[in-house]
Amino acid sequence: MKIISIETFTNEYIGLVRVRTEEGDEGWGQTSAYNADISAQVVHRQVAPHVLGRSGLDITDLNREVLEREHKFPGTYLYRALCGLDTALWDIHAKRANKSVCQLLGGNPDSIPVYASSMQREITPEAEAERFLKLKERFGYKAFKFRIGKECGHDLDQWPGRTEDIVMQLRQVLGDDVALLVDANSAYTPTKAIEVGHMLQDYGVSHFEEPCPYWKPDWTRQVKDALDIDISGGEQDNDMRIWKHMIDTQVVNILQPDVCYMGGFTRTLEVAKLAQKAHLPVTLHCANLSLVTLFSAHIMGSIPNAGKYLEFSIEGLDYYHWQDNIFSPTFKIVEGQLLMNHKPGWGIEANPDWLSQSNYQMSHESSRF
Ligand SMILES: [Mg+2]
Repeated sequence: MKIISIETFTNEYIGLVRVRTEEGDEGWGQTSAYNADISAQVVHRQVAPHVLGRSGLDITDLNREVLEREHKFPGTYLYRALCGLDTALWDIHAKRANKSVCQLLGGNPDSIPVYASSMQREITPEAEAERFLKLKERFGYKAFKFRIGKECGHDLDQWPGRTEDIVMQLRQVLGDDVALLVDANSAYTPTKAIEVGHMLQDYGVSHFEEPCPYWKPDWTRQVKDALDIDISGGEQDNDMRIWKHMIDTQVVNILQPDVCYMGGFTRTLEVAKLAQKAHLPVTLHCANLSLVTLFSAHIMGSIPNAGKYLEFSIEGLDYYHWQDNIFSPTFKIVEGQLLMNHKPGWGIEANPDWLSQSNYQMSHESSRF
């Protein structure tokens, strides 16, 4: 299964990757969203040269090779780029077995429960409540996540009083039969996070994400130890040392790796296994409707320690104009669940119109070091 070419199709926001082998296999993957044009450069400069001409059978070994050869570059772009290779190879492996990736790993659910995830912090509590209610009626969502505090906010709110207001209004408007989850995006010091956490507990909020700056695990653990509500985190992290520390020292109750920030499917599964040993659930971070949500669904559908819901962004094209028509079929939610099609691989086709409008680059076997 010799890898003979790696192609990228990208714009500023999102990039698809196609890997081809000597035997005629073709797999599609994706780098991480945002600055995807930069990640595509990294694919061709720092990933492709190390794997072209090699067998694609052992994905773990190929990942290791890239990361070791590029060990002076332990930053996010290498992992964002590596995700493109890794996920394209999983597509090939599953297609060869005539199974979905999820089935290849032993899972076979018809659907995965999701939570409706808001990305907006500028939205008023009234407007958030109104759109959540409409979504609940239309798609049957049973869980919703919304934003509180200010991103990396040093204890500030987006505007004074917004956090208390939105928690109260959403509980009032949506009723007691839905789960409410909040994300503070590194907003608080421990003292403030614990104060906010008690208010959240009073309203039956069940998940408090990234209460403190994520680079301060001791702060986050302090908050977890002081509250009954589940504390979650980890979306930015890609270093296995950090994951091991987070798990061994019990920083959070729920782990949230992002497949694309992690460097792909393989390394995310590695985190899920570490979490399983420590009896911790994994609720993957996937904050847009690109392939990251599909990758995450295939993991959530196949691991024994999947959290209660898959994240599912409710932001449409008015908010994320770039996530339109990249591939088909698109996501379908029924009764608060994402339907799984289990066609071979990821079960999608890249949209030819989208591909033709993207920037194209190819590395092939003769271009390796
Ligand atoms: Mg988050």
